[in-house]
Amino acid sequence: MRLLLTGSAGFIGSHLAAHFLEGGHEVIGVDNYLSGQPAHTERLRQHPSFSFVQADVSLGLPDVAGALDWVMHFASPASPPHYQQFPIETLMVGAQGTQNALELARHKGARFFLASTSEVYGDPLVHPQPESYWGHVNPNGVRSCYDEAKRYAEAMTMAYRRMHGLDTRIIRIFNTYGPHMRADDGRVVTNFINQALAGEALTVQGDGQQTRSFQYVSDLIRGIVRLMDVTYHDPVNLGGTEPITMLRFAEVVRSLINPGVPVRFVPLAADDPRQRQPDITVARTLLGWAPEVSLDEGLRRTVAYFRQGTLPAAPPPPA
Ligand code: NAD
Ligand code: UDP
Repeated sequence: MRLLLTGSAGFIGSHLAAHFLEGGHEVIGVDNYLSGQPAHTERLRQHPSFSFVQADVSLGLPDVAGALDWVMHFASPASPPHYQQFPIETLMVGAQGTQNALELARHKGARFFLASTSEVYGDPLVHPQPESYWGHVNPNGVRSCYDEAKRYAEAMTMAYRRMHGLDTRIIRIFNTYGPHMRADDGRVVTNFINQALAGEALTVQGDGQQTRSFQYVSDLIRGIVRLMDVTYHDPVNLGGTEPITMLRFAEVVRSLINPGVPVRFVPLAADDPRQRQPDITVARTLLGWAPEVSLDEGLRRTVAYFRQGTLPAAPPPPA
């Protein structure tokens, strides 16, 4: 296959690119480094089937010669501090960036894959969240730049499907973690791990009773690849199934890295969702998918990555 992947220098995009390259496919990565890391591009570039275009996909996608099998749109800041620092860019990449990616797919006769998010459910009143839940989103609060951009991106993707018959996929990703995250991205997993490694207090926001359900990145990649192999156009939740409070999560990270570090309570961010957990019935029945990597195992691998402080070796070229 020949795939164009936006957001290839990001956390998830870099794993996805490596997965396809290892499988013998060709990947054209596109990224503007708004929240990504050039080191990911340098590592992927060592593979002969990877090429890269530095571009802002909100302004337009590169005019790629030749056929494409897939356009995969993963570009967007995902960490709350990042998207709140760049609210207009975040709205644009979800809106104009998505339409540009859809147009490229249409022009090339390619299939289209959208990375959406559990944030379309906002601060959910239904728990756990099935895909049929319409959500509870503050349309103009500090998280709205991300939530509404992704809701628009889903709507635009479905409109291209209905109007142009494009073969589309939509996933709603729940909190995902693993190697290749930016140590400074401000999400809870990277904050707690790097605070503990530095011997600093773990910053628990609010009373720490809010929940998330973490999934390890390899489980997400497995779900993405399975969805590419079936024909299904409605959104699919992909996420961990074990909710944990942030206070308990701090305990888990402390015990893994440094039980001596204290916890420091800091103010809760505005509009922080109180609870979040996917209903994965659709992914289970449609894809035979469920998370496999335990939080303990996933955290061990992630901590090892941050202890190492370097990027892993490039994937080997196909034989
Ligand atoms: P990330 O910030 O690590 O990666 C996003 C990448 O997109 C970065 O490399 C960034 O530079 C690039 N980008 C942003 N705007 C761009 C633009 N206008 N043009 C070109 N490139 C641009 O985030 P991530 O965690 O890897 O998330 C990847 C995708 O998955 C995002 O679409 C995000 O919304 C979605 N997602 C992630 C999570 C998660 O837990 N990580 C959860 C839900 C959804
Ligand atoms: N959080 C925290 N300490 C931090 C960063 C985040 O307690 O240093 C909490 C935050 O309030 C939220 C949860 O961890 O309830 C997950 O936050 P994150 O930014 O990782 O992702 P979100 O699910 O909010 O997009």
